Amino acid sequence: MIGDSHLRLLLHTDRCSSKLLFPMYDLADSILAPRGCGDCNACCVELDIPAGQVSTQPKPAGTVCPLLCASGCSAYEERPSSCSEFRCAWLRDSKWPDAWRPDQSGLVCQREMIAGVGPVGTMLEIVPDALDTTKAGTMLETLRRSTVAVIVVDFQRRRQTHPGYLRFDTGSSVSPSAVTVRSTTHSVS
Ligand code: SF4
Ligand code: SF4
Repeated sequence: MIGDSHLRLLLHTDRCSSKLLFPMYDLADSILAPRGCGDCNACCVELDIPAGQVSTQPKPAGTVCPLLCASGCSAYEERPSSCSEFRCAWLRDSKWPDAWRPDQSGLVCQREMIAGVGPVGTMLEIVPDALDTTKAGTMLETLRRSTVAVIVVDFQRRRQTHPGYLRFDTGSSVSPSAVTVRSTTHSVS
């Protein structure tokens, strides 16, 4: 039987393949070191949710979900898959410190595999000036190491292209699922 340490060693053996292995890191972390969202409910504001799931109208990104109450989700057991399947980078990766949790850092990060592109990261500023901190720089560098591109979206929803990386247009959503590649000039460190 493969123990926890063996599985971690397996996933960390080939650093050159780390960009391909990140979903496995995430899976291993989810199994070996599950963590909860605690008091964070950032994605209840930042997710786009289609019509008919939390209200008859779509819930756009950047608006508070009508089902969010003071104690959290008022429909937690029946919440739509848009919510239950969303796992930010902090929730997925137990190596990310507590101070990087979105409600603590003011930044929601995500990693997602984009067909034909590879693992892409997003960093969304949910508190003004959170991107201007040393913490944000460290988080961005960490995200860069396991992705081929990072999309940075500031509080005003202006998209920035990280130097040397692919240029993307993400729309307003926190998720890069709808990413459109606008330039193929890239550098992978
Ligand atoms: S942003 Fe991450 S930590 Fe916060 S509630 Fe959503 S999944 Fe949980
Ligand atoms: S349904 Fe619940 S978990 Fe989903 S966004 Fe609304 S409050 Fe958050």
